[in-house]
Amino acid sequence: MPRPFVLSKVRGGSAAVPPSSAGLAPGSSAVLPEGRESLAQPSPWLQSPTVPELPDLAVLAEALHAALAGRRLGGLRVRTPLTVRATPGELDALIGQRLLAVGRRGKFLRFELERDEIVVNLMRSGRLALSAVDADRPATAVSLDFTTREEQPLAASWTIGASWLPPATATPRLTLLDRQQMAKLYVVSAEAPRVVPGLEPGALGPDADDPELSLEVWRERIHRHRGQLKPLLRNQHFVAGIGNAYADEILYAARLLPFRQRSSLAAEEVDELYVALRRTLAAAIEVLRQRVPPTFERQVRDFFAVHGRAGLPCPRCASRISEVGPGEERTAYCRRCQQ
Ligand SMILES: [Zn+2]
Repeated sequence: MPRPFVLSKVRGGSAAVPPSSAGLAPGSSAVLPEGRESLAQPSPWLQSPTVPELPDLAVLAEALHAALAGRRLGGLRVRTPLTVRATPGELDALIGQRLLAVGRRGKFLRFELERDEIVVNLMRSGRLALSAVDADRPATAVSLDFTTREEQPLAASWTIGASWLPPATATPRLTLLDRQQMAKLYVVSAEAPRVVPGLEPGALGPDADDPELSLEVWRERIHRHRGQLKPLLRNQHFVAGIGNAYADEILYAARLLPFRQRSSLAAEEVDELYVALRRTLAAAIEVLRQRVPPTFERQVRDFFAVHGRAGLPCPRCASRISEVGPGEERTAYCRRCQQ
């Protein structure tokens, strides 16, 4: 069982240890009481939305890579032990390792260190915030303190010169915020790799934006699956990274009803669904990149055509958009122009 663990030592680096984490003893940092969390104070450089899907995570991974790669992990604090899957020894061994890259696979964020790896699954309620080290927030589950930047790895071109990037001389803190304690942070050590649920070999299909998911591969894969289209798109074993919201948007773009059976699709509809999938995700990533900052800390979905727009006019045919299902599982579609 993981237990509360606090690290503040630095190995192989000259980074300053944040004073706010230096005096805490293991077990002393119980979950802070629920409070009114101010979004403005302290102001984060960057914060991710809840219930992220592939476009949100793709942009977040690019942003975090640009902000943090080339820095060493200088300190680590676990406030909610339920969040972390790691032994104290594995956590200890992370300190001092340089972060080489931040990437994404399915709905997982991967922090590739010199030797080990940190994998984060934000689930429904987890968020990541990047801020100055003295920033501490009530919903903090885990915080990772990084050193000044030692080198500047290549980063996505849209991040270059961005105002939200911490300066090279800053010591940024990456905080996993999660009031509901659903998110998970796994340490995958090089010596004894831990199996991350949902990321085991064979568990994930190709990422929905993977260049290797060609139209030919798509046709072949989709014919192996039965059932309704919406659950199919959300099936991570089929294609990885799509959740409830983007499944609605993709089906709208393809003019297909979410309840259609895969087996009822004509060959051209299979192809149209592929085109809609790729276009919808690429367009969303482009929009989200432009919106960082200032609104990345909120869930930017105001560009959606149907999801979350029940009762409003369909952008294509002006009929009222329909919605079925409860809460976060709701499905939105247009009954007139989706078939
Ligand atoms: Zn319509």
